[in-house]
Amino acid sequence: MEAKPTLICDRCHVELEEAEAQFLYLGNKMRHKVPRCPQCGLVYLPESLVTGRMRKLEEALEEK
Ligand SMILES: [Zn+2]
Repeated sequence: MEAKPTLICDRCHVELEEAEAQFLYLGNKMRHKVPRCPQCGLVYLPESLVTGRMRKLEEALEEK
């Protein structure tokens, strides 16, 4: 099992919950699970994760 780091909301100081978010990128709908604050609704998106996925998607589209 992979140990997940616990993420805490800076504003509310509560543990973030995993929630499914929908993105629209280059006309494609993408679903991805992201940590979200149950109190203020803040979504935590690590930039490395987002850019990494976007690059992968772009590469996949170019190959077609
Ligand atoms: Zn919060």
